[in-house]
Order: sequence, then structure tokens, then C-alpha cells
Amino acid sequence: MASGAPEIEQLIQLLARLPGLGPRSARRAVLQLIKKKDALMVPLAAALDRAVVAVKICEICGNIDTRSPCSICADPRRRDAGLLIVVEDVADLWALERAGAGQVSYHVLGGVLSPLDGVGPDDLSIDALVARAPEFAEVVLAVNATVEGQTTAHYITDRLDGSNAKITRLAHGVPVGGELDYLDEGTLTQALKARTAI
Ligand code: ZN
Repeated sequence: MASGAPEIEQLIQLLARLPGLGPRSARRAVLQLIKKKDALMVPLAAALDRAVVAVKICEICGNIDTRSPCSICADPRRRDAGLLIVVEDVADLWALERAGAGQVSYHVLGGVLSPLDGVGPDDLSIDALVARAPEFAEVVLAVNATVEGQTTAHYITDRLDGSNAKITRLAHGVPVGGELDYLDEGTLTQALKARTAI
């Protein structure tokens, strides 16, 4: 049921387009914003205003920051470490940073190859990656362990053929704290293949 006021309806419709929110959650979020106008709605509106002006996409790696080149690309210790991690999305970059990836650089592809969805090599920042790769000793393809992710990894490996960088991928296997009995066969087979000496 519509709330009536077009200002409120538009807010609900916009919020409902965010990942993880449907119309129902969006309606609840808007109600909460209105009830806590001074504590939530006013500061949120101000924060959105500031973000609209401040946010920049890094011209080198594709990260989101308030400067371009981003603070990661501008850090000479990271550049000198010679390790470039290729990720699908900025969310993956942030996850690796939260995990304490250390002195590394990143390259955000902006997605994966997906012929069914009409995503080809020109839709991703693969040419820019090929241009950057010679500056690094190792390129880690940290794409998701999905069919599209692995297809993209193979394509990039072919394109990087001839660059001197060593090309690696993340290990597939038993998650930290994982119980073998609960793992799917694919993960268990990969973990056995990728076993390491203790
Ligand atoms: Zn950057």
C-alpha cells in the first residue's frame, strides 16, 4: 500500500533498489528515518551530500576513495612490494583490506566475463590490467570461485602471457574453522589437491 505522500514514496522506491533491501525493508527504513528525524534523517542527508561531492573512483586501480590516485595506489611501500591482487569488485578489495592483506596493490575489474549477460572483455578493465602487470613481480587473480570467475581468470592468464609477472590464484579449500563433514565435494576435492606440507 502506498503511503500517499510522493516524497515518501520516492524515498521508499529509491531505498528498495539497494542490495539487501526490498520494498518491505525500505518502507521500514523510511519509517525509522522519519521517526528519528534529527538523530538519523538529517545526518544521513548531510552525509549523502558530502559523499556525492567527495567520492572519486581511482584512475589507476578502480578503488573508491576521496582522492585519485587512491590512498593505496599513492603508497610507495605498496607499489614497491610488487604484488598486484586482481578482484572483481571494490567490495572484494575492502574485504581483503579488512583481512589485513598487507603491502599489496589492487586492480578492480568491475565484474566478470559473462556472455549470457552480454559482459565481454571490453566491459571490464582488462586492458588497463595488461598495461599495469609489467610493473609487478606477481599478479594474484583473486576472482570468485564461480564458473564466470574462473573463465575470467583463464582469459586474463592468456592476455598476461608474455608479461614477466608470475600469475597465481587464491587457494581453494577448507575454510578456517570448517568441518570436513559439512563441505561440498568440490571444495573437498580442491582442498585435497591443494594440500600443503605441515
Ligand atoms: Zn587506486
